[in-house]
Amino acid sequence: MVAQSTIFWFRRDLRLHDHPALQAAIDDAGEGSVLPLFVVDPALFDHAGPARRAFLLSCLEQLNRDLDGKLVLRFGQPVQEVPKLAEEIGARSVFVTADATPNGVRRDEGVATALSQAGRQLVQVGSCYLNPPGSIRTGSGGRYKVFTPYWNVASTLPVSPPLGRSRGTWSTAHSSVALEEVARRPLIVHPVVELVEAQALQLLPDGGESAAHQRLQRFLSIVDTYDEQRDLPADDATSRLSVDLHFGTLHPRQIIHAIGQGTSGRRAFLRQLGWRDFYADVLSANPDSAWNDLHPLGIAQDDDEGARQRFVRWATGMTGFPLVDAGMRQLLSEGFLHNRVRMVAASFLVKDLHLPWQWGARWFFHCLVDGDLASNSHGWQWVAGVGTDASPYIRVFNPTLQAKRFDQDSTYVQRWVPELQEGVPSSKGRRSTASFDQVLFGSTYPEPMVDHAVEREEAIRRLTRASISAKEGRST
Ligand SMILES: Cc1cc2nc3c(=O)[nH]c(=O)nc-3n(C[C@H](O)[C@H](O)[C@H](O)COP(=O)(O)OP(=O)(O)OC[C@H]3O[C@@H](n4cnc5c(N)ncnc54)[C@H](O)[C@@H]3O)c2cc1C
Repeated sequence: MVAQSTIFWFRRDLRLHDHPALQAAIDDAGEGSVLPLFVVDPALFDHAGPARRAFLLSCLEQLNRDLDGKLVLRFGQPVQEVPKLAEEIGARSVFVTADATPNGVRRDEGVATALSQAGRQLVQVGSCYLNPPGSIRTGSGGRYKVFTPYWNVASTLPVSPPLGRSRGTWSTAHSSVALEEVARRPLIVHPVVELVEAQALQLLPDGGESAAHQRLQRFLSIVDTYDEQRDLPADDATSRLSVDLHFGTLHPRQIIHAIGQGTSGRRAFLRQLGWRDFYADVLSANPDSAWNDLHPLGIAQDDDEGARQRFVRWATGMTGFPLVDAGMRQLLSEGFLHNRVRMVAASFLVKDLHLPWQWGARWFFHCLVDGDLASNSHGWQWVAGVGTDASPYIRVFNPTLQAKRFDQDSTYVQRWVPELQEGVPSSKGRRSTASFDQVLFGSTYPEPMVDHAVEREEAIRRLTRASISAKEGRST
């Protein structure tokens, strides 16, 4: 057995700079070396869409280069793989950055128990958030349920300066799975949409720490106009750092330190970052809200065969509503979607098509590179009116007016919907009479699949019915 005392297990913190947990592992090893580990968990990897997989693999490739080729990659359930490796090398401790997601907490409890049975320990240091979930409390010790009061506290807390690059002595190679082998794992086809799985991803961002720093540098040159421009999907005026925050190629501390407070653009950006911490906090306080309504309204939703067909048209960008379709096609090509268009497309699915928000959330989660359980599920619930800070259910985004307001000259729509390069049809479309197959496989742009005004009324009717049933339920 090789003398070895410490393992560092990377998860959503794929960087070497400003890394308190990695630094703690190096300090713990003292004169010894640290074995850097990443475990590809099939429960997560096999369900990720092609874009998130590709991005993760490119992050791991760069991390391995930065670690002089010493990253040990294992494939399997962490609860077995981590203790097995610790046993192989006689490690006393395994260091990690704490994870507060419901699955992460369960997984880490399992790993900690398995390690402790062999006299070893799992040491959790830091968090991938600025304010770890659970750390900000109301005056009475409870958790915040609304963003603004949460932000009023969070925005006043000091942010420690980022650490430099961690430089350890990395343990010499141990048996490792090849990245290429991981990349060959078959995709699990999304249960509803099988038609677009083969779609080539065209424009994926580069993964890894240096690409993250380049994205941050680009954003620093435009951050001062963030508050004015951030709602315009054609302008690429947001940071595009959600992927780096999700995989931890940057810590929010590093971003905040680089941004500073100076202008209204900078302050608006910091507030948006606050939403990420807030949703993680809400999810950790309410683990069931990952896939269930935080505040159920009991509104009837459709889930029959017709609903499935409507879902496929939405997911493939064939609704006949240009802004929705442009967004859904951007999602398929880039694994990214602008925040304003996420809201419009989500509202369309829930309130124009009357489908469960979970269908849309699962599809986003599958396709997005930045797919993040807390921000995605709570972003969807906000739109559906069943989450925290919920926009009232009665607020229905009009996809045509949203396009007029935020994509006035149709630059964004025409970028993603080539059939409309000759011009965007007028807003008064008729309901499409084409059959499902004609539309899905047709080469021309479809007519609007629903009449927005009619479906808005239907959404409100369903809400009213749900409110009456709830009242009747309360009075019996
Ligand atoms: C239906 C829906 C689903 C969403 N799903 C996700 C998701 O899976 N992953 C994800 O990271 N974000 C999600 N968001 C939030 C937001 O759309 C993205 O964070 C943002 O579009 C990413 O682009 P950016 O990095 O350029 O954002 P910027 O505008 O530059 O914002 C900076 C950072 O602040 C955070 N942020 C901004 N807005 C939000 C928000 N509303 N909620 C939480 N964090 C926010 C993100 O970390 C983002 O990277 C979702 C929003 C909606 C409405």
